[in-house]
Amino acid sequence: MIGQEHVWAAGDVTGIAPYTHTANYQARLIVHNMLHSADAQRTSDYRAIPRAVYTDPPVASVGLTERRARELGLQLVAASFDLTTLARAHVDDVRYGRLRLLVDPAQSVVYGASIVGPHADSLIGIGTLAIQARLSLETLEELVAPFPSWGEAYALLVRSLSRPRKDPPILTEPQPNSLVTTPPS
Ligand SMILES: Cc1cc2nc3c(=O)[nH]c(=O)nc-3n(C[C@H](O)[C@H](O)[C@H](O)COP(=O)(O)OP(=O)(O)OC[C@H]3O[C@@H](n4cnc5c(N)ncnc54)[C@H](O)[C@@H]3O)c2cc1C
Repeated sequence: MIGQEHVWAAGDVTGIAPYTHTANYQARLIVHNMLHSADAQRTSDYRAIPRAVYTDPPVASVGLTERRARELGLQLVAASFDLTTLARAHVDDVRYGRLRLLVDPAQSVVYGASIVGPHADSLIGIGTLAIQARLSLETLEELVAPFPSWGEAYALLVRSLSRPRKDPPILTEPQPNSLVTTPPS
């Protein structure tokens, strides 16, 4: 944030997302802009500053909340995923946890993510990257997470969104180029 020319501010004093990681981000921008010419200046982007509460279970979120999306007049869809359905929940005997995404199906992007459950503060990193880089829902859907891990939740949630799907046709007779071969009779 620039107050006056040659006066720079970073951290809580800016009144923006008062977290250590925001202060670090703003400090990096300031140092970059101090050392570079006018045509190489970078501007701040606060769309994907994560918020975490280190409770048990931890809670974390990033991007827009549903209330803020309504205030902005955005037509977004909210969808939740029960983390206890993951294999990892069985392995760790975890009986709580939810991932919620706020998505724009038309643009196929994520606007917000929130998590309550184990490692929520780390798991929010995937949502943060999705918003920051404007990853498409298709990319998130294809994300291959290790099994069994909490990271599987994102792809499974996106797959559960009611989007048009085409089921493959049921094969009734041998198809050309089929990998299935029949032994000679
Ligand atoms: C209890 C608590 C828990 C928190 N937990 C988290 C957390 O888990 N994660 C997270 O991201 N954020 C957390 N925060 C917020 C985080 O601490 C701040 O957002 C972050 O420290 C802001 O960095 P800053 O450099 O703006 O300010 P500060 O870290 O407060 O640094 C300001 C410095 O300026 C010094 N100073 C003040 N006045 C003067 C003066 N007149 N002359 C010289 N020096 C002066 C102060 O002594 C201080 O060292 C927490 C805050 C609190 C209060």
